Amino acid sequence: MTPRPHTIFVVDDSRITRAVLRELLEAHGYRVEEAGSGVEARVKIGQVAPDAVLLDWELPDETGPELIKRWAADAELKWIPVLMFTSHKEPERIEYALDAGAVDFVGKPPAPGELEARLRAALRVKALHDELRRLALCDPLTGLYNRRVLHERLRDEFERATRYGNELSVAMADIDFFKRINDGHGHDVGDEVLRQAAELFRSGLRAVDTVARFGGEEFVFILPQVPLAGAVRAMERLRQTGAERPWGTTEHPLKVTFSVGVCALSSCPVARPEELLKAADERLYAAKEGGRDRVVAELPAGRA
Ligand code: GH3
Ligand code: MG
Ligand code: MG
Ligand code: MG
Repeated sequence: MTPRPHTIFVVDDSRITRAVLRELLEAHGYRVEEAGSGVEARVKIGQVAPDAVLLDWELPDETGPELIKRWAADAELKWIPVLMFTSHKEPERIEYALDAGAVDFVGKPPAPGELEARLRAALRVKALHDELRRLALCDPLTGLYNRRVLHERLRDEFERATRYGNELSVAMADIDFFKRINDGHGHDVGDEVLRQAAELFRSGLRAVDTVARFGGEEFVFILPQVPLAGAVRAMERLRQTGAERPWGTTEHPLKVTFSVGVCALSSCPVARPEELLKAADERLYAAKEGGRDRVVAELPAGRA
């Protein structure tokens, strides 16, 4: 597999500068996206998800450093390195732009090779940051988000849902009799089953949903804007796909089922995000008690 080319976002009000940079960068194998104003840059940056930004100082509607400050305050955009590329190269401007959050400053016109070399340096740091973030946020066995991300996302989605009056569902899944798989077939096969479950959950849910490994063989799903009935349908679909797919290895083919507890904000009004997790966990427990291999959204009478 050839590596994905890096995308460079060129923000400059001069069409000529953009064309020159495009030619230069494309000749070096980069993918180029451009914007000619601050507002265009702000709209596009989320869609483009660039690996680095080359940013002019003067734009028709705002200045480069103003844009940088805005992006630096955004949880996702702050990870994208921004290089100022401007003819305003007085020392106080350099200081101002770097303090605003630019990672580097290149004067126009650059010395031959300088812009490309500084870009490579910025991309190297970005790649290291990406690697560190992956290590900090993802579970090494399954590649799913870990508990830290789960709690953060749950808090954010809970806040968004309560503020805008949106629906929010949370589900907790636990593999049935997983200990038997480990005991009967070995830990390696158990690990493989966990990876297969992660793949099933990730591919069966939407990109806006959060799929996290909560613990050993427990997984949590956050489904923004999905009401209880929709979440139950999604979980039944996962259960169905899980029942039909092969599990384990060629030497150790297995049948694997899991139980799921589901709750939604509207059917289970709670004051704090963690209480949604607890409610999903209680329903998961009811699913286990009810015989496993099932989705439970309502607590049995007497336990509500
Ligand atoms: P139940 O249907 O009630 O959920 O039964 P269970 O056997 O799935 O539940 P139990 O909690 O008794 O066992 C979970 C097992 O998961 C125990 C633990 O050794 C195993 N486990 C936890 N993390 C990992 C892991 O990373 N890899 C493997 N292979 N096993 C793990
Ligand atoms: Mg300009
Ligand atoms: Mg289990
Ligand atoms: Mg468990």
